[in-house]
Amino acid sequence: MKLIFLGPPGAGKGTLAALVSKEYGIPQISTGDIFRDAIKRETELGKKVKEIVGRGDLVPDELTVSLVRERLGQPDAAGGYILDGFPRTIPQATSLGEFQAMDAVVNFSISDEIVVGRLSGREVCKSCGAIYHVKNMPSKVKGVCDKCGGQLYTRPDDTIESITNRLEVYKKQTEPLVDYYREKRLLRDIDSSKSPEDTLVQIRKALGKPR
Ligand code: ADP
Repeated sequence: MKLIFLGPPGAGKGTLAALVSKEYGIPQISTGDIFRDAIKRETELGKKVKEIVGRGDLVPDELTVSLVRERLGQPDAAGGYILDGFPRTIPQATSLGEFQAMDAVVNFSISDEIVVGRLSGREVCKSCGAIYHVKNMPSKVKGVCDKCGGQLYTRPDDTIESITNRLEVYKKQTEPLVDYYREKRLLRDIDSSKSPEDTLVQIRKALGKPR
């Protein structure tokens, strides 16, 4: 199954992509994770995108598309995948459509207010990428990942300035994809304002049983 998870920052795409990836046995491909990993390892790509990602702006389409194209060519993606955070612009979507046909686009909807609350308390594991929230989804031991014992940190782009910018960027550049995929009859609308479990139930209904 080839899936896109579409929605504003903080909608829960990453959290749900991890759950769906396990259940459906397909890899989660997150462009945000790819960029953060490159920044951490200080690679050429990382140096190029560090400031852009920190501000919450979008990395240029050409660079992002070529990265995804390469990733989708790897063997583990042959049987399907979840694209988490890609495409984010109409040009990215048309480029993707030129080399891959999707089965469904899950559209996460949520209010700005909830998004800001979620992102301003978000914590991420440095080692395995698991996502927590200081209030809504705290780790058992403060600052320590339940899953792997890794150290939790706050993403540098989870500042109020960057969050506000990411929401604006989403509305201007990414939201047009909702109509784009609706017209292609691929869109599955879900409400992601409640718990991850509640959202997972909706996604299962929208997608059907794992094949
Ligand atoms: P969030 O959905 O919480 O904003 P992501 O982890 O998906 O976070 O993305 C973090 C950042 O990585 C974005 O703000 C942007 O700078 C960059 N990025 C991720 N995906 C893309 C993409 N498809 N196109 C351009 N930039 C991207």
